[in-house]
Amino acid sequence: MYSLFGRGLAHKIYKHACLAQRLWTDKAAAAKPPAAPDKLHSQIVDVRCEGMVVKILPARDNNYMYLITDLPTGCTAAIDLSDNKLLFETLKKENLTLSYAFITHHHEDHAGGTEELAAQYPDVKICAGDERIKCVTHCVKNDEKLKLGEMTFNCMHTPCHTVGHYCFFVECGAGGPPALFTGDTLFQGGCGGFGEGTPEQMVAIVDRFMSLPKMTRVFGGHENTIANLRFAQCVEPENSNVSARLMWAQKQRENKLPTPPSLLCEEMCFNPFLRIDHPDVQNYAGDTDPIYVMFCLRKQRDAFK
Ligand SMILES: [Zn+2]
Repeated sequence: MYSLFGRGLAHKIYKHACLAQRLWTDKAAAAKPPAAPDKLHSQIVDVRCEGMVVKILPARDNNYMYLITDLPTGCTAAIDLSDNKLLFETLKKENLTLSYAFITHHHEDHAGGTEELAAQYPDVKICAGDERIKCVTHCVKNDEKLKLGEMTFNCMHTPCHTVGHYCFFVECGAGGPPALFTGDTLFQGGCGGFGEGTPEQMVAIVDRFMSLPKMTRVFGGHENTIANLRFAQCVEPENSNVSARLMWAQKQRENKLPTPPSLLCEEMCFNPFLRIDHPDVQNYAGDTDPIYVMFCLRKQRDAFK
């Protein structure tokens, strides 16, 4: 199923990706973001690439929401509304005009701010794919493409964590690396619980992610990388990519820096949920059937402390 991407090639891309990751990290460090106020779990960091910039906004205990700005036009979109106070402050401070808000799923820590946004910023289009989300002005469809400035938002219906969950795959006009906003479907080193879905559905989602460009940057909805990688270490104790990434993540968190984004090709080297075809992961599950392996990984992860 994943034979398109041989392991030798994966390793090559992974090495290249590590370098790219370091470059972004260096850039983030060079920009010296102000120390996070005590209430924020992480510093606010900008991730730039040709054509667009993603601002990582920490919210609540370990949520992330994001602001994406198309550099040629200034068109700006939010992903999830976890903390409107911080969002509104940031828009003001950075002199940004918000045009869109994309909501990944209906859980309160992602969608809780829609009513207040609609009241205070009535011109902002609120896009989502679940009827349980309030004040939606545009109901997105699977594979729908929306043009925002020169960026293209591809809406991916990813039912599993919730039935109406959407991920947003964003390509920038300048042809730089795309970004994938995964909400609670995929996290760095792990994935979200299958609250309203099945292992079959998660296998189908993983297949879809695998067809995206390998240099896609993945922005998940929570800071839970260290716990995810500790579990990944139990699954694959011999996988040096897991231990290296865990050490890196621990350093990031010591400095209150966010761990997202990762690259899709990095995830393929350390995230067990994207490695269900790997013999060591199959060995951990005691089976080679992808749906059973996925079921087993999720069950063990749910029980993992
Ligand atoms: Zn959720």
